[in-house]
Amino acid sequence: MQTTIKNIAIIGSGLVGSLLAIFLKKRGHQVTVFDRRQDVRTVEFSGRSINLAMSNRGWHALEKVGIEKEIRKLALPLDKRAMHVNDKPIYYQKYGKEGEAIYSISRGILNRRMIDLAEEAGAIFKFEEKVWDIDLPEAKIYTGETEKGEWQEYNFDHVFGADGAFSRVRHKMQRQSRFDYSQEFIDVGYKELTIPANPDGSHKLDNASFHIWPRGEFMLIAMPNLNGSFTCTLFLPFEGEISFENIKTEKQAEDFFTTWFPDIKDSISNLKRDFFNHPTSAMVTIKCYPWTYWDKVALIGDAAHAIVPFYGQGMNAGFEDISVLDDLMDAHGDNWEKIFEEYQTLRKPNGDAIAELSYRNFIEMSNKTASPEFLLRKKIEKHFAEKYPDKWIPLYSRVTFSDKPYAEALAIGDTQRGIMDEVMQQKNIAQEWNSPEIEKMILELLKTS
Ligand SMILES: Cc1cc2nc3c(=O)[nH]c(=O)nc-3n(C[C@H](O)[C@H](O)[C@H](O)COP(=O)(O)OP(=O)(O)OC[C@H]3O[C@@H](n4cnc5c(N)ncnc54)[C@H](O)[C@@H]3O)c2cc1C
Repeated sequence: MQTTIKNIAIIGSGLVGSLLAIFLKKRGHQVTVFDRRQDVRTVEFSGRSINLAMSNRGWHALEKVGIEKEIRKLALPLDKRAMHVNDKPIYYQKYGKEGEAIYSISRGILNRRMIDLAEEAGAIFKFEEKVWDIDLPEAKIYTGETEKGEWQEYNFDHVFGADGAFSRVRHKMQRQSRFDYSQEFIDVGYKELTIPANPDGSHKLDNASFHIWPRGEFMLIAMPNLNGSFTCTLFLPFEGEISFENIKTEKQAEDFFTTWFPDIKDSISNLKRDFFNHPTSAMVTIKCYPWTYWDKVALIGDAAHAIVPFYGQGMNAGFEDISVLDDLMDAHGDNWEKIFEEYQTLRKPNGDAIAELSYRNFIEMSNKTASPEFLLRKKIEKHFAEKYPDKWIPLYSRVTFSDKPYAEALAIGDTQRGIMDEVMQQKNIAQEWNSPEIEKMILELLKTS
């Protein structure tokens, strides 16, 4: 289909903005990316590596634009969870079928590489240029050093707001009548800590696992980095008996780790110092609609749908926005009004679905992963799914290892949950979990659901 070359601005050079720049350049458009930050490639590494899990939806987008192989070099596959429950040996839960894995990747390294690739493709980056305002009908943007200072005006054909959860572009769209917006913080915060590599550069824990220390209302997780270290994230309520507000001294920090995470405490580097030096960050779900303004402006990534991180899908969902847009550009050529309209209609229900799934997974990861009832449920599901792979794909696999819509995963997951609730009510389920009767029951329930 015929495409006219357009002059396009992307606000935000994060993971989504830089990938979108590569896609648009490959279509031949003129692309300028604005970011209020300094160029991340010129900032020295602080030694802290914040990592993310990339899964199928993310890889699919990278493959579509031809950079998947390049990015895989930066990632480590994790095919299982390693559960650290006090007083018990570590036990492992496979994520999916043989060969299925999520990939641990450093956010900083990935972002740097993607900006390089976007520049190689011909995108122009303007760092330290904060966008303060946008004229939505005219696709004009205004940048400057301060809100009250002098602004520079730029004219474009289309503008993408890839400027993250607290998007300035969305802020402008919010001032329209009938623009829906909600934001909800959870009362749990997070803090990142590091487990350094062994002196020989090897990892201190199994480097093909996503490590979890579930402790009910809170948990610690750890993901490996290529340099032998692990990035740990402590998720803990802001307030309450066991909370960030109640850890005020180095002694309290040490006691907290000695009580709850004795097996790993001594491996975390500079625990007492880093606990207080590293920020405690908040997590938010942001929903809004519409995501577009005619054929002029579109929100993408966290700017359109910020979610809590417990399904490891925020970036993956943003990359999938781009894959969908790209398909629509193939289908509708120069008709940007149609492209934008279909983009928001297709993606909004999926943004809402992954927001809901991510919130639920927070409850599941911290509260349930260690409970015997939960483990039995998962065992029954796994057994049935292995025997009837065409009848039962576990929810985690639908979200993580497929690219079927998130909304479909949520709906099917709810049906499966109803079935498993009934199964778990059966007498002697702990003994009879793999009996022909239970199997028959699930098959019957599947027929009627
Ligand atoms: C603790 C944690 C763990 C996570 N783990 C995962 C995971 O395992 N897997 C996963 O898929 N996702 C994960 N995520 C989510 C993921 O980090 C985000 O979804 C993703 O980074 C969003 O990318 P983005 O490009 O949309 O926004 P951002 O990364 O926020 O980038 C926005 C960019 O816009 C720039 N900007 C903002 N305002 C302006 C302005 N006015 N003018 C110019 N520039 C501006 C910013 O400087 C920034 O560079 C996690 C998130 C958190 C918090």
